[in-house]
Amino acid sequence: MNGLNGPDMSYLDYNATAPIRPEALAAVLEAMKSVGNASSMHQPGRQAAHRVDVARRQLADLLGCSPGEIIFTSGATEANNLALRAAFTAGNPLVTSPVEHPAVLETARAVTAESPEDLVLLPVGADGLVDLGALDQVFPARRGGVVSLMAANNETGVLTDLRVAAKAAHEAGALVHTDATQIIGRLPVGVAELDVDLLSLSAHKFGGPQGAGALYVRRGSPLPHRPLLVGGGQERGWRAGTLNVAGIIGMGAAADAARRGVGEEAERIAALRDRLESLVTGALPGCRINGRRDQRLPGVTSITFPGLPADAVLAAMPEVAASEGSACASGAPTPSHVLLAMGLSRDDADSTIRFSLGYATTNAEIENAAHAVKRAATQVRAALAEAHGPS
Ligand code: PMP
Repeated sequence: MNGLNGPDMSYLDYNATAPIRPEALAAVLEAMKSVGNASSMHQPGRQAAHRVDVARRQLADLLGCSPGEIIFTSGATEANNLALRAAFTAGNPLVTSPVEHPAVLETARAVTAESPEDLVLLPVGADGLVDLGALDQVFPARRGGVVSLMAANNETGVLTDLRVAAKAAHEAGALVHTDATQIIGRLPVGVAELDVDLLSLSAHKFGGPQGAGALYVRRGSPLPHRPLLVGGGQERGWRAGTLNVAGIIGMGAAADAARRGVGEEAERIAALRDRLESLVTGALPGCRINGRRDQRLPGVTSITFPGLPADAVLAAMPEVAASEGSACASGAPTPSHVLLAMGLSRDDADSTIRFSLGYATTNAEIENAAHAVKRAATQVRAALAEAHGPS
């Protein structure tokens, strides 16, 4: 009901991708009308470079860092790969958690393939919180290396207290990386609050275009210079390739809009999320909300509908765009690794739907979605009862 997807659609999949903010759309369209490679010395090139500088400043203001600490990438996947491949050296620990996005988990597995003893996965509780106390068993017995923990989980919204992790890691001389893809622009936090050395983000999660992102590298971090892409030496040699000028400019405009609105938006969105939860749990008493409720992103709820396969419920409510587990894993027959790590059974994980709200979510979308969920769940339950016959 936000006018972006037609009047009958409740778009509740902001963690997969958010609708582009009007400011970002206007900036992208404007940028695409101009010619200019940001590395060219002529006037159109210099103009493109100037616009990129403005966007870098806008993103730095959102993160609370300086523009020189930003490396533009194609998104968080690339930023995570770049961060871990540069920060990890065999023989040192790479500490992460089993609830990370595959862009971190798979990279961590790949870089430690030759020295699997270097990969340390911290335990996760039933509430989705990573057990940071377990860092005491890693440090100070070992020193150095890198700790990579997501700031907010994409499936449950559960937040990590990165300052606690950073204290333990920094005392042991380790670098701290966070995949902050889901928190940036959603809660008013920046690199100072998180106390991290490296931070990954993707523009399309906060209303920018897809295909643009960044890695923040704290000035003075002892990060070996190991770029993933070499070539023309763009981004101070950290990421070769012609800059995605329109994408970067759109990301800057989205960062600016998100920074101005984030405090107010977070409160409004949390109230809408709470309303959705109370309508759904009120209508369907057996369902359960996953993740630590008082330590979550404002716009996410992960709901298990015991006995009802999530794919069937989703198919029965085409007017709601939500997802089974994470979008990146959707289509794959494996249940969510995040929910399994929290101790859910395979059946419960397969009966879980993630609803994620954002800056443009309306009250009407929530009311409609709640109606649709009730109708779809009732329909699926009836169909299953019929298929199984009288018990
Ligand atoms: N990390 C997290 C936590 C995410 O939610 C996502 C997107 N699903 C990514 C990384 C990857 O982002 P992108 O696909 O834009 O590179």
